[in-house]
Amino acid sequence: MNRFSCRFQGELFFRLTERFKQAYTETKKGGETMNQKQLSQCCKTIWEASELRFKEKKSSAALADFLEQEGFTVERGIGKLATAFRAQVGQGRPVIGLLAEYDALEGLSQIAGVTHPEPRPGYKSGHGCGHHLLGCAVAKAACLVKEALDGKSGTIIVFGCPAEEGGSGKTYMARAGLFDELDCALTWHPSSINTVISGSYQANVQLYFHFHGVASHAAGSPHLGRSALDAVELMNVGVNFLREHIEDSDRIHYALIDCGGKSPNVVQAAASVLYLIRSENNEKASALVERVKQVAQGAALMTETTLEIEFDKACSSMLSNPVLENVLWKAMQQTSLPHYDDSEKKAAEAFKRTISEENLYLGMPKILRRYPELQRRYLEEPLCTWIVPYEHSEALQMGSTDVSDVSRVTPTAQFNAACYCMGTLGHSWQLCAQGLSAPAWKGMDYAAEVLKTAVLNLLDDPQRIAEAKAWHLEKTRGEKYHCPIPEEVLPKTNY
Ligand SMILES: [Zn+2]
Repeated sequence: MNRFSCRFQGELFFRLTERFKQAYTETKKGGETMNQKQLSQCCKTIWEASELRFKEKKSSAALADFLEQEGFTVERGIGKLATAFRAQVGQGRPVIGLLAEYDALEGLSQIAGVTHPEPRPGYKSGHGCGHHLLGCAVAKAACLVKEALDGKSGTIIVFGCPAEEGGSGKTYMARAGLFDELDCALTWHPSSINTVISGSYQANVQLYFHFHGVASHAAGSPHLGRSALDAVELMNVGVNFLREHIEDSDRIHYALIDCGGKSPNVVQAAASVLYLIRSENNEKASALVERVKQVAQGAALMTETTLEIEFDKACSSMLSNPVLENVLWKAMQQTSLPHYDDSEKKAAEAFKRTISEENLYLGMPKILRRYPELQRRYLEEPLCTWIVPYEHSEALQMGSTDVSDVSRVTPTAQFNAACYCMGTLGHSWQLCAQGLSAPAWKGMDYAAEVLKTAVLNLLDDPQRIAEAKAWHLEKTRGEKYHCPIPEEVLPKTNY
């Protein structure tokens, strides 16, 4: 792609974005009084700041300030997490939590609107998971509910949840008991399709393995050195052999954090590797962690180095509540889906052409195999203008989210709203590049309306919450939430 067409695409995209934002800001729905302009700005601020786990200072403040100005009672730094907040409105029961996120991803810096990978100068991170839209739609939904409360009994709490990506912010919040006051919780996630999210997600544990050896001249006195880098390498080799003897639902990933330096003529005295270990549930994840630890100990033994294991974070497996899933399913159908004009479809088509056929099939919900017409539309159309048929599932999906820990404390459900061209995968440059597009804004708006409708339906029909709680009680057998992060472990801002 030449520079001119790249710039042209970028400009066209921004004109579309600006035009939509203008229309979006001017068109207030009946009785709506919230400051839409400020919310749009807040969303853009979060996308631009692209702040990483537990460092979301600007992003968290932008959302908390907005809600405070909208009349919510805001508490910042809750659960000893500087970038977490709680914003409350209303009174009495039920107490409904809405979960907002706003953190970005390392290594996904990307210029908006450009249909090829091109990092934003000066930035290493980007919103490759759409959490700028996530947080803002939740804030908007809460404002819309506030406007419609009209003397109804009910408390709405927006939880500003930091560090979903690699930090398990909500797990720390759950450990601090912040969700104990809730009767239920709802949230959503930006996606390329409109669907209720059902099924389970993996539990995970993340640990640092630090090896300590002895530095020495690699040529002059190699026999006096003990290499921590060798230990890391042997640990990785050992774990790669271990992979053959683990369950299909297990996953083990690692990243080299510290290779011990850049001098091959020095025996590396310190080296570290970070492991992310996933399994079907907390118990299985913990058991797998023990096996990985043994491999690490073996590597230390072989290299005569010492090993220090540092617990980073963990999250539980998901317990998605079918009663609340149905509430969301109904609300999704009650809410008008966005319409897209030709220029928006054309821009989405350009992005869809960058997605490989393999990725496109991977992103297709399995349930569509039973709906050939919807499958055809998913594969051929640029944007999702329909809702994926819903069916409750408890099948395990590969991947993890800290929403799971909220789901272990209180009945929880979530949905996806289409914000990107169909087939856009999470954590991709394409997703980051579409983050400020007109479909992204429209998807955010749709999500806010769905959440509002779902909350109002729950306030009007408290029996649903009682049913959701009964299901939750049966599944958890009434056992109190057990946090997979030990009490003494504090959140880390470093990688
Ligand atoms: Zn995400």
